Parts: sequence; structure tokens; C-alpha cells
Amino acid sequence: MINLTLLGATGSIGQSTLSVVDLHPEKFNVFAISAHTNWQQMLVICEKYQPDFAVMTDETAAEQLSREIQSDTTVLSGAEALETIASHTDTDQVMAAIVGAAGMASSLAAAKAGKRIMLANKESLVLAGDLFMQAVKDNDAELIPVDSEHSAIFQCLQGGLSGLSKIQLTASGGPFLHTPLSELTNITPDQACAHPNWSMGRKISVDSATMMNKGLEVIEAHYLFNLPADRIDVVMHPQSIVHSSVYFNDGSTLSQLGNPDMRTVISYAMSYPDRISSGVPALDLTQNSPLEFYPPDFDKFSCLRLAFEGLKQGGSAMGTINAANEIAVASFLDNKIKFLDIAKIIEKTLDMSSHFYPSSLAEVIDNDKIARLTANEIIQSYV
Ligand code: NAD
Ligand code: MG
Repeated sequence: MINLTLLGATGSIGQSTLSVVDLHPEKFNVFAISAHTNWQQMLVICEKYQPDFAVMTDETAAEQLSREIQSDTTVLSGAEALETIASHTDTDQVMAAIVGAAGMASSLAAAKAGKRIMLANKESLVLAGDLFMQAVKDNDAELIPVDSEHSAIFQCLQGGLSGLSKIQLTASGGPFLHTPLSELTNITPDQACAHPNWSMGRKISVDSATMMNKGLEVIEAHYLFNLPADRIDVVMHPQSIVHSSVYFNDGSTLSQLGNPDMRTVISYAMSYPDRISSGVPALDLTQNSPLEFYPPDFDKFSCLRLAFEGLKQGGSAMGTINAANEIAVASFLDNKIKFLDIAKIIEKTLDMSSHFYPSSLAEVIDNDKIARLTANEIIQSYV
């Protein structure tokens, strides 16, 4: 039996992970779970899976859950408790599926404890990629990507790295692939969250619409596969069937294909190097043709351009971009700023921030805090 710690159990990735567990109850035991505020949903999950631990990072929500819970689950509260369950001696696998920078410390704790980390929280790599990859190496942790593009590349590289020339991330282009820039001015949060292929949380849905998600994924790929920015390509592919490709110097290209459903990616991470059923139906290529591919428009999707620039600058620039993006997206979802302001706020924050090479998690967290303050100040001038 594999003991699973599921960070972000109430989210989109969290729910898909539980649905894979449901298909293989003899293989996986839900040992510990976490969520931020939604104690009602956690109560339902606790009753069904009877985990040893349930963490609510919000203290009031933790009190509510403790009051209502019937199972023998120990309820813990606060952000530090995430690290406790991520590094617990009885934990075998950690699904790191918290959204945003809030997921970083617990992913790092899992790395330091030498666990199998199934990393959906790309922000861990964007903010602290050097520290995180070092912790994985020093502690013999196992890092398996839980992002469809990176899982595709990881799968395509199972034959080794010999002759690898570049990797190519596919991007659906989100809901506005064919919308002219001039029509993006008055986009509402609901329009931005209506992704044509993937059903995801609201923050990552907005990131897909601005293509910041792809930008963060370029940085994620840089760390996961140890490649410089000029060996990482992005191609628009609206059908989301080809999940990414790797190119070799003999003219060969390998791609991984499948229906756009994260359960394939999640089940692969949980069972690697084996494969188990995920509940995702087999792909029927005849139903999905034609498959289209275009070069990205860096003028329309300036968030993608900014992420490439951040990666080339290195160091704190990537964390600054991520922090500014989180603040800007939250303000957009709150109807405080317009869709096209998101990129402007990120660019301004980057311009106003000092650039350095963080050497500790404390410095990463400091930079994140300062960049959030800067982004918030810039937003004040918009409202
Ligand atoms: P979501 O918004 O649906 O769920 C987020 C989870 O994180 C919830 O369980 C929530 O309780 C928890 N959470 C939120 N704020 C928190 C905080 N401050 N402290 C602790 N926990 C907090 O998000 P999602 O779509 O499942 O995405 C999760 C992560 O996976 C993100 O990093 C995202 O980029 C990545 N990802 C998601 C998908 C997808 O298809 N949804 C695909 C690839 C990668
Ligand atoms: Mg992705």
C-alpha cells in the first residue's frame, strides 16, 4: 500500500487525484490531505477516505472541521502543518497541488524528506528552482511532473537524453487564441476562465488566457530538464491533443498524445514507471483531426514574452514575475483591474524591483513579499 499525502485535496488536481485513487483502492491509501478554507468539502473527503491527518491552513476552518469531524482523523492547522504531512515518515508520495507560492514550502519539505514528489505546483520551481532541484538531488527525492506538457516531455525522454536538441511545449492559446488584441480590453473574469479544452482552477485558467501559464511552464521546464531558454520552444496547438514534443539531432521528434484530462498525468506520476488505468478514454485520432500548430504571438501574449525575459535574467526575476502575476490575477478576478492590465502590472513590477540571486528560502520569500507589495502599489494607481 502506498501512503499518499495530497496537498490541495479540494482543488481541481486534488479531486482528479482522488478519482484515480478510487480506481485503485488496493494500491493507494489517502494518508494525509490539506486544503485552505473549504472545511465542508474536507469533511466529505475525510468521511470517505479516513485519512490519518487533515490540514486546514486557515485556522477558523480548522476549528470548524475539528468540531464536525466524526472519523479518527487528526486535524492540524496552519501553513507549517503542510510541511509536517509532506515530510511525515509514513508518507510515500506527495501530490503537491496547492495553487501559488503558498505551495512552495511544503514541496520543498517533501524534497528534503526524500519523498516521491508529484509536482503540480509549478510555482515551487519558478520561485525557488535552484534550491528545490538541489534539495531533490541531495536527498534522493523523486520528482515527477504533474503538468501535461512536462509529463509529456518526461515520458518522451524515457529512452534517454542522447542527441536531444530541444523540447517544445504545446499551448492551447486558451479562450482568446483567435481574438484580436483590440478585443481583449473588456474581457470579464468568466470569459477568461472559460477554457475550451481543460477544466481547471480559476487562477490557472486566467494564466492560460494570458499565456502566463505557458511562461511559468517554460521556467518549470528549464529546471525539470536542465535546459537553457533557447532550447525550449512554444507552439500553439488549439486542440490540446499533442501534449508536448522532444526533438533529437537525427531528425526524430517524439510527442505524447492523449485526451486533455489530467487524470492521465496524475496516474502516471502515481504509478511510474508502471502504468495504471486512469479513467480517461482512449484517444480516437479520427475524431480530433485536423491537428493545428502555429507560432506564438509574443505581442498579443506579452506575459509569455515577460516569462522568457525573466528566465534569461534568472535569479529573483522569476519570483518577482510570479508574485506580480498572482496579485494582478487576483485583482482581475475581483474586477479591480482589466484583463490587459495584468501584463502591464507584471512588467512595471519587474522594472521597479531589484534583481539578485537568492541563496536561501528566506530570501525567496522576502523577494516574493516585496514584489507583492510593489504590484499592489501599482494596482492602487489603476483603481
Ligand atoms: P485549485 O484552485 O483548483 O485548487 C487549489 C488548492 O490549493 C485547493 O485545495 C486550495 O484549498 C489550496 N489552496 C489555495 N490557497 C492556499 C493557501 N494559501 N494555502 C494552502 N492551500 C491553499 O487549483 P488547481 O487548478 O488544482 O491547481 C493546483 C496547482 O496545479 C497549481 O499550481 C496549478 O498551476 C497546477 N496545475 C493545475 C492543472 C489543472 O489542470 N488544474 C494543470 C497543471 C498544473
Ligand atoms: Mg500545463
